[in-house]
Amino acid sequence: MEQELQSLATEAKDGLHRLDDSHQLEDFRIRFLGRKGLFSTVMKKLGTASAEDRPRLGQLANSIKKEIEKLFEAKKSSLAASTPSNASGDLPDLTLPGRCPEGGKLHPVTQIMTETCEIFENLGFSVAEGPDVELDHYNFEALNIPAHHPARDMHDTFYISDSVLLRTHTSPMQARIMENQQPPLRVIAPGKVYRCDSDITHTPMFHQVEGFLVDKDISFADLKGILTVFTQKMFKKDLPLRFRPSFFPFTEPSAEVDIACVMCDGAGCRVCKKTGWLEILGSGMIDPEVFKMVGYDPEIYSGFAFGLGIERIAMLKYGIDDIRLFYENDQRFLSQF
Ligand SMILES: [Zn+2]
Repeated sequence: MEQELQSLATEAKDGLHRLDDSHQLEDFRIRFLGRKGLFSTVMKKLGTASAEDRPRLGQLANSIKKEIEKLFEAKKSSLAASTPSNASGDLPDLTLPGRCPEGGKLHPVTQIMTETCEIFENLGFSVAEGPDVELDHYNFEALNIPAHHPARDMHDTFYISDSVLLRTHTSPMQARIMENQQPPLRVIAPGKVYRCDSDITHTPMFHQVEGFLVDKDISFADLKGILTVFTQKMFKKDLPLRFRPSFFPFTEPSAEVDIACVMCDGAGCRVCKKTGWLEILGSGMIDPEVFKMVGYDPEIYSGFAFGLGIERIAMLKYGIDDIRLFYENDQRFLSQF
């Protein structure tokens, strides 16, 4: 038994010495050190040795095996160091085309924002952009939301100072534009807005498009007409619209607008919570108080305003159920659009 071990050790050392590539190295490992290799076979025979010899032989077998393993590792690293990286010896094929960088795409929010602006521009609206850092005056006061008005609570505002804030909607542009221009007006104001709120349907920053139209003899029917065209063009379907009475301080009367569910066409599904309807925006006739503040005569002029969330539209259009996906910058998500 002892002799058998010694000769196995000699054989293994000789074998290792003669190795000169990685295939032979693997063959060696299987032949000597593998689970069914020569060392394992000898170790199994230990059980048949006499009780007094067994500890000594066991120790010897172990130390020989360790020594061979050590030599094997040393050979392995010396072979790796001396082998060039293309071990097969093939030269690279210089005629293969190079790897092209992947083309970039517009973010889904940018796509919907652009599409929304185009639809309204085709309806005669002009586009006006305002500052993200806004005065309290334009964000609230000029829209008929004085200090301490309960509606301010709904806005979860990020204040920078008592009179400066991050705009909570793009409606301040309504007041800014009406202050400086006379009707007729047809304007949309797209941009980022900020609210201290975060869950699967809210992010602290999101995108809104505010739209308003001021002229003589404007009614709710005009609002409905414009919004119907918008939803048809955006969702490429003739979706029924419904108005639900609501409250906004700067419109009177006010309405939330629902469209028939884009997923189930109004039949009722998980997305529309079985109602068949999806809320898409808030709207209303501009409050006469807002007109008075900018010096328009509410007896002569009337108008409507609406505000829609771009992420909300994108979620409905693409069937996305978590708004935060837009801002995680996961390529697997973004490359789908
Ligand atoms: Zn549905």
